[in-house]
Amino acid sequence: MAMMDVQLNSWLLFDHAPRHFGTTEVVTHFGPEGVHRYTYSDFARRTQQLMHALDQLGITKGERVATLAWNSYRHLECYFGVPCSGRILHTLNLRLSPAELGWIIADADDRALLVDLDLVPLLERIPAADLRGVERIVVLSERVPDSSIPGLLAYEELLAEQPASYPPPDIDERSPLGLCYTSGTTGRPKGAVYTHRSTVLHSLVASSAAGLGIGPQDCILPQVPMFHVNAWGMPYAGAATGAKQVFLAGPLDPRCLVDLLFEEQVTIAAGVPTVWLTVAEELARRGHRPPALRYIIVGGAQPPRSLIERYQNEFDIPIVQAWGMTETSPLGGVAWPKHEMRDWDAERLTTTVRTQAGLPVPGISVSIRDAAGVELPFDGKTMGELCVRGPWVIDSYWKGAGSEQFTADGWFRTGDIAVGSPEGYFVIADRTKDLIKSGGEWISSVDLEADIMAMPEVAEAAVVAMPDPRWQERPLAFVVLRSGATVTLEQLREHLEKRGWQRWQLPDRVQIIDAIPKTSVGKFDKKVLRGREGSVS
Ligand code: AMP
Repeated sequence: MAMMDVQLNSWLLFDHAPRHFGTTEVVTHFGPEGVHRYTYSDFARRTQQLMHALDQLGITKGERVATLAWNSYRHLECYFGVPCSGRILHTLNLRLSPAELGWIIADADDRALLVDLDLVPLLERIPAADLRGVERIVVLSERVPDSSIPGLLAYEELLAEQPASYPPPDIDERSPLGLCYTSGTTGRPKGAVYTHRSTVLHSLVASSAAGLGIGPQDCILPQVPMFHVNAWGMPYAGAATGAKQVFLAGPLDPRCLVDLLFEEQVTIAAGVPTVWLTVAEELARRGHRPPALRYIIVGGAQPPRSLIERYQNEFDIPIVQAWGMTETSPLGGVAWPKHEMRDWDAERLTTTVRTQAGLPVPGISVSIRDAAGVELPFDGKTMGELCVRGPWVIDSYWKGAGSEQFTADGWFRTGDIAVGSPEGYFVIADRTKDLIKSGGEWISSVDLEADIMAMPEVAEAAVVAMPDPRWQERPLAFVVLRSGATVTLEQLREHLEKRGWQRWQLPDRVQIIDAIPKTSVGKFDKKVLRGREGSVS
């Protein structure tokens, strides 16, 4: 006796909603341009038209199709249309500089690119040499803008010509479905490859009550970019369970987000702590809570305890913390209270559960280890590197980069320093890497330092994270000047901008010091710098 041999590929997720939830809505808010709404039936038709369009464009199975796009129903169509027709979806981070994007597009060997109309100017700034391998560029719009890029195609025109039904191809569950680049501490970003199988399993667990708890009764609003780890898997989990989905296209607009929470009867919203810090003021103005909202999932960085308490006490909205990373699809843990905690008071629950990053979700094993690889106890005080394993944790990077992050006994070393609690939860205490997390996006301190040190006036520079109430962390630069030289913050920022840095990545403060403290092996000792006034300790 055996079970049916059903392949765990993306059709399993795609088929369900239109079949059983054909009238359930997908809503996209485009700011001043208005609201777009349609149903899962419309979604299914158009997504299959996209599959045909990719065939017509000559994109071979297994090739990468990149998206450079905000959250929207069209992006959702790409989430399914690309992998369900056997291609690999590569979501590009629209916050990166043109040079960074160019490097990633070339490294991924992207064959086609689907881009939002308002992001075409960004695309135009990408070095042409990096786009050489991209044979087709489709603008996610009815029309094509005037552009220096030749041969642009309009998404809506392409779709309009296509039949509405696509025969499901044979897709091996272990073949790649998606590609997402992460930031590296040193050197280049690395690509994490998701398979059909890993995405199906991740979606099922993400939708479960031990995961994000998404079901047919829900309306979900991921205020997590769809270019960042598949918006934490919510679009896939939402479609797989028939949940209504709401997207806010474009940058965060707190008023608009809160309007949507009320008007669309959102039951689960998700985002990084900085989103909820910004949105709190808008919620306070309304005077009452969004009626249907059950809880907010917060992850990507540690939310301050004050934020968790404010949402609970002032708005009566529970914050549920989740932990994950690009390499873990991303869901690794969610901090749900256990049954035996049902009578605990709020204070104890906040300390023991809500301020923790997570409790491992089913399918994910967690081990906290010391530098020698020895497993450490979950005792509430011992720190070590968080290592994880599971069917949606990558076992290698695209093109074999970063092999040192995989242990000989099959674990992925996350680079997070964690403390496990006796109750079985874990919290992130620090990072082994020195990346700075600003508004949910990484800034590499190592790369910033390298460019600051390229200034003729500068002898040495070290950049560390400075806590920031709005953006979580901002870069603080410590600079040692060459004798007789001077540098102002403005000059430093101007220099970095010329080297391709985005404004949001630039240090907000610079401190001139006599010498950068060094470790015993002569490296910059950032621990000492972090202890200094103004930086993250
Ligand atoms: P990314 O791959 O860009 O999504 O970033 C993943 C990193 O975000 C993790 O390695 C952690 O350092 C951090 N992170 C994610 N969730 C949490 C959390 N709940 N608390 C603290 N840090 C987190």
